[in-house]
Amino acid sequence: MRALPLALLVLFLVSSLVRAVEKPFNFNETPGKLPKEVMPVEYAIRIVPNLDNFTFAGSEIVKLNVPKPVRQLVLNALEVKIEGASVDGKELPLSAIKTDDETELLTLTLPSELAAGDHALTLRFTGKINQQGQGLFYMLYQEHGSGARKVMLGTQFEATDARRFFPCWDEPAFRARFQLTVVVPENWLAVSNMPIESEKKIAGGKEVHFSPTPPMSSYLNVFVAGELDFIESRVGPTQIRVIATKGKAEQGRYALESSTQILKYYNDYFGVPYPLPKLDQIAIPGGFGGAMENWGGITYYESALLFDPKSSSAETKQNIYEVIAHEMAHMWFGDLVTMAWWDNLWLNEGFASWMGSKCTAHFNPQWEVWLARELPRDPTRRTGIAKEAAMEGDARSTTHPIQQRIETETEANSAFDDITYKKGQSFLRMLESFLGEDVFRNGVRRYIAAHKYSNTTTADLWNALSEASSKSVGEIAAGWTEQPGFPIVNVKREADGKVRLTQERFRVNFKKAPPLLWQIPLTYSVVGETPATLLMTDKTAALKNIPTDRVLKLNVNGAGNYRVEYDQPSWELLLKSLPKLSVEDRVNLMSDAWALVQAGRAPVSLYFGLIEKLPPSTDLAECEQIINVLDFMNGLLVGSSEREKFQRYARSLLRPTFATLGWEPRPDEPSNAGRLRASLISALGDLNDPEIIAGSRERFDKYLADPASLPPDLRGPVLAVIGSDADEKTWNKLHELGLKTTSSEDKQNYYGALACATDPKLVKKTLAIALTDELPTSRATFLVSRVARDSGHLDIAWEFAAANMKALLAKVDAAGANRYAPSLFTFFSDSLRAEELKNYAKKNLPQASAPEVAKAVDEIEFRAEFKKRVTSQLNAWIDRKEQP
Ligand SMILES: [Zn+2]
Repeated sequence: MRALPLALLVLFLVSSLVRAVEKPFNFNETPGKLPKEVMPVEYAIRIVPNLDNFTFAGSEIVKLNVPKPVRQLVLNALEVKIEGASVDGKELPLSAIKTDDETELLTLTLPSELAAGDHALTLRFTGKINQQGQGLFYMLYQEHGSGARKVMLGTQFEATDARRFFPCWDEPAFRARFQLTVVVPENWLAVSNMPIESEKKIAGGKEVHFSPTPPMSSYLNVFVAGELDFIESRVGPTQIRVIATKGKAEQGRYALESSTQILKYYNDYFGVPYPLPKLDQIAIPGGFGGAMENWGGITYYESALLFDPKSSSAETKQNIYEVIAHEMAHMWFGDLVTMAWWDNLWLNEGFASWMGSKCTAHFNPQWEVWLARELPRDPTRRTGIAKEAAMEGDARSTTHPIQQRIETETEANSAFDDITYKKGQSFLRMLESFLGEDVFRNGVRRYIAAHKYSNTTTADLWNALSEASSKSVGEIAAGWTEQPGFPIVNVKREADGKVRLTQERFRVNFKKAPPLLWQIPLTYSVVGETPATLLMTDKTAALKNIPTDRVLKLNVNGAGNYRVEYDQPSWELLLKSLPKLSVEDRVNLMSDAWALVQAGRAPVSLYFGLIEKLPPSTDLAECEQIINVLDFMNGLLVGSSEREKFQRYARSLLRPTFATLGWEPRPDEPSNAGRLRASLISALGDLNDPEIIAGSRERFDKYLADPASLPPDLRGPVLAVIGSDADEKTWNKLHELGLKTTSSEDKQNYYGALACATDPKLVKKTLAIALTDELPTSRATFLVSRVARDSGHLDIAWEFAAANMKALLAKVDAAGANRYAPSLFTFFSDSLRAEELKNYAKKNLPQASAPEVAKAVDEIEFRAEFKKRVTSQLNAWIDRKEQP
């Protein structure tokens, strides 16, 4: 996308800083717990759910290939009871069957040696249907229109929960064909990876038999069933459906149109057309908060897929497109070609994040995809541009390399973090920009063609890209994926047009960071001229012939995953030429300046001095960068005497932009104006802006009489302002509206507003909702996180969570289990709380939570130190400003 002319590449591939140690995929050498002496080839699985007591009965026949004789079969099973087992038709005694929920293994001891060759294992088992999104789970929901209480079923297997549904070789390298048969009520629609092959009526419902899948990893299986509707379309031989609970399928229209557009793009990009006969996009009303790339049957929490033009915001629309583009990229990167083991999860997630953003930006340039602020579903995660969120975490002592050792199931579940997704994405973007868009795509095509229906390591991707580019990609990449952190490049002008560049590790709240070096694919431009590239392989490098009076900008368009620190003369020149820089470059300077303040390398005046010099702008990305910083400071100053003065200053920075935009959307305004207006209302509301509070009240009263009077973009922010100001009567009204609506987006807005309430009595009332089943499980637990973030009473939120941890954790899915408790602490900025968390963790949390506890402790310590350091600087800056 932002490739530079190849002719300009100046390459110094002298030596590698870090040697790539990883080898290409090899089944026998792939890490994992299961012995590699038995290979499952094909599973025929039959599942009969019991909706009265939320259990299920299952049976399976697994065709096995055994290269060498074995005495036992070892596979995965968890919380399933094995009722019987036979091999090649011979029943094993129950004493030969051992399940261990600790190791999650099922061991079958054979009466005699099983000869090399093909065999069949038959198992009969029972299991449970969970409340949270782990294995097979149920969802209770209100039907759209009628409001009737209904139940439906879904599955969530990644990383290691397929074993809760059927015993299996549940590691990604054990690819096999899966053929599922299920028994469901007659009026239900059942969906799996493949189309239905046959269906027959039986006692108590119908038996649905799906076609077998191609060879794939177990975690990609899916089964969803309930009273469902769908709409459909077609791209060549591929049927595309959007499936939702009854009455909601039409809200999938936007998703359906987007899916067809994206499928055509990917069919071309990857060079191998989508291989399954159908692709289902399934909206589910609970279970988890995100989306899951099950091959041929992607599941989404419904607000990530359904769009109602009458009530959904522009932000929802953009989010839907991005999530679909991410999940569909997985159909190739993840499903057709799968990482060999969880240490290479980034191959799935970093790639899908990059590809999804690239595709979204291609079709929707007006969205500023690479710069857009993400509002994560989980309120305790960092907001901001994806790249910035990853860099913030990556500068700390608690970071880890993109490729990290994964030994256990819980470690696999913890790998789904910002480093894996966002640093991975950001590194790939930098690499594509360096190699060139066409060369990079050719490498990806080679990779897909060479490894389809198989597994890979990162080395396989680098080999394909090296072949396509004739460059040693593995050597450049090793520093970025095999070591933690990232560099900062210091720029110093010297005599005779020479510019001296020095790299070092960038660190925040991390005094004793081991020094590291990177091969940095640097880009730079003398403003007004064509950008150029330099591969910086050593600690220092030099640029020549840059006249001292010319403006020099490194990291063109901010596409690189490094920070830049300019000397005073270079910075002064940049400040003078801000109007000439692209929005991307300006946002990059702002982000770097704020990071330097965080790192203690510059005073706050560097950042605020920069933003006060920016030309007036209603650009979304630029304004949101500022809003993000102001939000952070406003949260940090809760309870401090300096807060009011800061809020006055912060309002003065945002007010002019809001005055330009106004409350009411205009037909001719740019497409991002609605989102910016929404961001400004919520930011100014948080900053206690009297006009915003009065304007929100007025609009809320009108909205109660006529919901259509409030544009969809403004509903979330206006309701949040109302919530934060709410008395008991208003709280009750918001709650009543939340209870009644069957739209998940409206529900989110109402309950989000409740979470903003500041009256301690109401804070407690909001928290209590998390223990009821008013909200889907993931939303219920996030409600506590939102209260911690938005109410100004994180002490009350934590007391509540500590007292009810068991009930709350019962609602958290596998990926969130280790971080839920520590994440609630991240808004504290008092070092005593860091001690409290450590003590709490010692007594109450499993060892697997340790990395997340360390991250939260680091965050609290950083906030405490930062608050102490910048409060007086900020005061001095504002006082300077307020002097007549
Ligand atoms: Zn993903």
